[in-house]
Parts: sequence; C-alpha cells; structure tokens
Amino acid sequence: MKNKKALSAACGAVLLSAGLLTPVPAVSADTNPGTPVNQTYSVEGFISHEELSRTLDRIEKSSQGRVDVHTAGYSNSGREIYTARVGHGEKVILVQSEIHGNEKTGTTALLNMLQQLGSNGSKEIQSILNEVTIVAMPMVNPDASELNRRGNDLSWHEVVEDFPQLNGASPSWNYYTYTNQYWDYKSNPGFDVNRDFNPDLNYEPSPEDFPGASSKPGWYITPEAQTIRDVYQELMDEFGEVDVFIDLHHQGEYFVEGTEDKVTLSLSGNFVPDPASEAGQKYAEYADTYDGEFSKQLNVAAYRALQTRGNSPFDHISLYPQDLDLPGTALGSFALNGSGTVLFEVTGQTQSYGQKKRGQFVKAVEMGMYGILTSVASGEVYEINEEAYGDIPKTER
Ligand SMILES: [Zn+2]
Repeated sequence: MKNKKALSAACGAVLLSAGLLTPVPAVSADTNPGTPVNQTYSVEGFISHEELSRTLDRIEKSSQGRVDVHTAGYSNSGREIYTARVGHGEKVILVQSEIHGNEKTGTTALLNMLQQLGSNGSKEIQSILNEVTIVAMPMVNPDASELNRRGNDLSWHEVVEDFPQLNGASPSWNYYTYTNQYWDYKSNPGFDVNRDFNPDLNYEPSPEDFPGASSKPGWYITPEAQTIRDVYQELMDEFGEVDVFIDLHHQGEYFVEGTEDKVTLSLSGNFVPDPASEAGQKYAEYADTYDGEFSKQLNVAAYRALQTRGNSPFDHISLYPQDLDLPGTALGSFALNGSGTVLFEVTGQTQSYGQKKRGQFVKAVEMGMYGILTSVASGEVYEINEEAYGDIPKTER
C-alpha cells in the first residue's frame, strides 16, 4: 500500500472527491472498447492476471483482516477467479469486472475501491463497512483478459466433454470461431460468457436448449459463469438475497442525447422486460422476486454521485439502451432473482483516449460505485423516486 496519508486526507471530508482513490502503484489499466482492438496496440499498461493476484494479496495483507480474498473458482485455463470481501453489514453488494476481457477499467476501479475500503479509517468508510458487505470479483474472465478479447478460451469440444448429454447438439449461438484482423477465434475459440447465465440458478444443460438465442437464457456451460453463479448462490444462502449486483463493462463511443458531449459512461438497470408486464410474461415465475424499482433507485444513486462534480466529463452520463431482453446476461438472470442491478458501460476507445482519459474513466466508475455504496449504507437509496431514472439523458448511438 502506498501513500496512506494522501488517501486519508483525500477521503476525510468529501467521500467523492477527485483525489479519493489514488491507484496503488502496480495497478494500471487501459480503456478498451467493446469492439475489437488492434492487437498491435500495446497492452502492457493493462493489469495482467498475475498483477491482479499480487495486488489482491497486498491489499489483503495491508488491510489487517478487513479484506478477505478467496479463490472462488478457476477459468478454463486454470487461472484463479477471486472474491475479495470487505465490510460486515447485512446488505450485500456483489460487483464484478471484465467478464469481457477487453473491458478493463472496472478491474482497476475495484482494486482502488478495495484498497480504500480496506485501509481508510474515516467515518464515511466505517459507516459503509458497518452497513454493507461488499464482495468484489475483479477480472472474472481472466483467460479473455490475458487474450485481450471478449470471449473466453474454451472450445465446444471441451464443453461436450464436461456435459456429454450435449454430444450431437449444435454449439451455442454465443460461440465464437471466426477470424478477423483482430481476433483468431478459429484456432482458439471461445464463448461470450455474459450470455451463459440462466435465471434458474440450478439449470443443467439440456441438448434441446441449444443453440439458443439472445432472448433466451444461457446454460452455465462456461467455468467462469459457473463460478460467478456459485458465489451468487452462496451469498443468497448467507444473506437471503443478493441485494445489489453491479457489472462493469465498456462500450463504443457515443454522445449524450441532445448535446455534443461524449458519453463518459452509460448506466442501466433494465435487462429483461418486467415479469409483471405483458412483455415479461415468459418470466412470470419471477414476478415476486424481480424488483425493477430498486434497480432504478440504485442507478439514480450512481448518477447523482457523478453529478456532484458539476460541469465536467463526470456529468456526461447517459442511460444505456432500454427495452432489452437478455436473460443470458448475469444482470438479467440476477435481476430476475431479486437483485437490484446496475450496468456500467464506460466509453473505451484505446486509440483515441490517452492516459488522462483513462484515469478519468476509472474515477467515474469509482464515483458511481461509491454513490451506490453510500446510499445503500445510509438507506437513502430507498427514498429515491424511481421516476428520476427516466430523467437520465439517453445515449445517442
Ligand atoms: Zn461488456
């Protein structure tokens, strides 16, 4: 840990101050668009899985018992997938990054947050830790992170080895085998892990559910989704439900509707049609657990935290496209199971955004996350009028 004094000084008065989260020295990141990135671009500034392991270890040690790091499971290539837990409140917040391995700022933001929550003695931090239990899963798709790509490193053949009942079934629709100037999935295939979730957390793959589709649930065929699901279920057993689930991503470059402001990040709490609505009929069995209102309140909490900086890139926040039907995403499946959900989609153009912007993006993610932590800890989030969600400006795509 570095520069404890600066960290405390920055944190004391204003939780959301600019200097709040000084990155730990080994942590660096780079933005990366949701679209392919030229492989010749240097990736040396990104956090490798090895750096992640080292940094988590250091954060755990320097926290003197506050931060608990565990290996929750392994990627298909045998890399650790970690949980880092801090806080002892009754409400639990699960937050993950890099399920798409080329969307990297969330990992840095999570490490900064763990460092801060684990070492800062301020009242603000103490009250968060008293009210909330935070379980962070940085870099949940480490094989993809190492390959700097969206998909994991797993072949359909290996899936059939794991699930022999799928012998003869069509590979799932989210299986990548193409080659282009950026990726070689042909010789090294993989899956979009963020379409492998199913709201039935105990679902077992069945051949008639393949190849599936974007508007249908996934199957838990990837070890990465299985690990996340297992952590989610364990937290459900412990806490009754997972109150909040946050997923950290990147998108392309867009504008805030009606302005010439480039989007810094987009937010969303809406991934499947409301099970209580006509459009959500197929999810009717989840009508009692789904809490769309709470998701909206959480998103507004993040949005408002980002507005506190006034006219700056931090207020160039927009609402991600709504009216989605993506039950195979972690957000969609976990929302149906009762979690308040928040999607962060950071703008991430590696070539067009330099170091300076990269720092801004990481900070924006941290500010949004702290907005959620503080408002859940104080209970203020439950007072937010959900209609304020509709006031977040739309994204011009
Ligand atoms: Zn993504």
